[in-house]
Amino acid sequence: MKWSRSAPEVATPRMMALTTGWLYLAGGLTALVVGVSDLLVAADGVPLSFLHLLAIGLTAMGTGAIVLVWGGRWPRAFFHVLVGGGSVLITLATLAAGSASGTMVAAAIFTFVAIDAAFYFAPPAALAHLLLLLTGLVVALSTRGVPALDILGLFLVCLAVCAVTAVLVDRASSADRDTLTGLPNRRRFEEAFATATRGRNRHELTLAVLDLDDLAAVNDGRGPGEGDELLRAVARTLHRTVTDAVPGAVVARYGGDEFVLLLPGTCGDVATRLVDGLRAEVGIAFSCGLAQRAHGESRSALLRRALAALTAAKTGGGGRTERADDATALLAADLTSALAEDPDQFHVVHQPIVDLTTGDLLAVEALCRWTHPTRGPVSPAEFIPAAENAGLIAELGALVLERACADAVRLRAVQPDLVVAVNVSGRQLVRPGFYAEVLDVLHRTGLPASGLCIEVTESVVDGSTPTALRTLEMLHADRVQVAIDDFGTGYSAFSRLDALPAHHLKLDAAFTAGITTSGRRAGILRGLLDMCAALGLSVVAEGVETCEQATKLRELGCPSAQGFLFARPQPVSEIHRRLLEARPAPAVQSAAVGR
Ligand code: C2E
Ligand code: CA
Ligand code: CA
Repeated sequence: MKWSRSAPEVATPRMMALTTGWLYLAGGLTALVVGVSDLLVAADGVPLSFLHLLAIGLTAMGTGAIVLVWGGRWPRAFFHVLVGGGSVLITLATLAAGSASGTMVAAAIFTFVAIDAAFYFAPPAALAHLLLLLTGLVVALSTRGVPALDILGLFLVCLAVCAVTAVLVDRASSADRDTLTGLPNRRRFEEAFATATRGRNRHELTLAVLDLDDLAAVNDGRGPGEGDELLRAVARTLHRTVTDAVPGAVVARYGGDEFVLLLPGTCGDVATRLVDGLRAEVGIAFSCGLAQRAHGESRSALLRRALAALTAAKTGGGGRTERADDATALLAADLTSALAEDPDQFHVVHQPIVDLTTGDLLAVEALCRWTHPTRGPVSPAEFIPAAENAGLIAELGALVLERACADAVRLRAVQPDLVVAVNVSGRQLVRPGFYAEVLDVLHRTGLPASGLCIEVTESVVDGSTPTALRTLEMLHADRVQVAIDDFGTGYSAFSRLDALPAHHLKLDAAFTAGITTSGRRAGILRGLLDMCAALGLSVVAEGVETCEQATKLRELGCPSAQGFLFARPQPVSEIHRRLLEARPAPAVQSAAVGR
């Protein structure tokens, strides 16, 4: 049997609490039984031994119950107190028992401590507990006048129980060990990960995957025996260095020449320094991929990121460390918890779209804003792609759609023909339930279909996804308006416009910016406006920032525009206030209604 330096791995805090709790209960009950036996044989009144054993028994049972309920959360060190305390209580019970047989029964409870000591602790601590229990046993039994050979008999029983438990525990632990290196294997690593991330644990946790660069060369050149020896040496060094540097770290062999390091309480920067420090110690070149766990991230997702970083390190030439994209994963995790726990971190602002000739407000574009409690405001250019990649855009989009429609109802009470434009991502549009969701929101908020415009980028309706096109056609048929967003970026094709069920075309800001500086651009826009007029599409120029741009657009015949020149995105209350201010005086209003 190989004694490991550390405590047995099967002794998890939960297992320790369960075993200690039940053994305390059983020990307490035994003490009570011995006490009752004394009571039954007593000739006159209640014997003192009964009262003592009653007190000891109840104390032990009470402790057992408490350990069962809360012990799983206590630090391992506290179990030294519980096991040592057990020895003391049993010594007292042995001394208290009224009869010779009762004394032996009470002393038999020492075997429980022998089990605990071998189960929970590393050999030195287990030995210390064994010594304490054997001392208690010898002192108590010799005080009670038990013959020396009987004491020796029980002494040997306790030793045997301790030894057998140690062997069994070692066997159980070795099922989780890699046979070549003695390190935890993949299964044990998975359990360790589950323990480290259980519940609402928000501590930092970094995963490193190490891959030896030249093991194959060693195997081929010097033989597999040398290769095995090298693996063992690397495993020893990794285990010693990493567990010394990071309390609670787990070093496991993950496969062939791959090792994983689970580094609790460690952020990516610290882990990078640790791994780089290992290079000198390990003595053979290795590549490493590092990923810091985002809150709620699963083992497989974290591992996938770390392995991708490892691949990057290997393809970059090996012998180096690469970090996974932790920032994106952390952002996605914050988005996930914001959506699930605190959706008020998101709000919707509106940017006016105006008639270029009259300056009248035609529509507002709803734009999502996110203010995170510690990050502060996060740009949509950052969080919208993150939400798309993390599969959260449907949830976020639903939230924006609902709020935008409710805002539109409020604004339309002042200006009944006002339209709200809502951005919809491709991933949202292809979801089977999207069409029904839009109708449902319209129904719940009371916004007529014609008061809503769906903005989608051209690439979304590229023809690559017939579902997207079909959904747009159905919405179009229901009188929901559709705008093609960001036109002029990517591979915009005029020919495709004909096939799209759209009402509006939004010229991207980058395109707009060019019209005052490039004659060609202005020419293209003129042609585009003519074509859109023929197709019945109304054009909105985005990102208009200067009077010069607005004048040029007007000259070219562009009907409407959006941009900082007219208004920045603002809260609905601000738009509402401006609409009220701009409302014509009552006399004029009634004249207008009568027209
Ligand atoms: P977009 O749909 O093209 O929205 C217009 C963006 O241009 C907005 O940026 C707006 O603030 C900005 N903008 C407007 N006028 C001007 C101007 O004169 N100059 C300049 N430089 N910028 C101007 P924002 O709000 O940062 O949004 C960025 C992008 O994020 C949006 O681009 C849209 O693609 C996306 N987005 C925002 N909210 C949502 C949403 O609720 N759902 C989805 N799917 N995407 C959204
Ligand atoms: Ca847009
Ligand atoms: Ca746009």
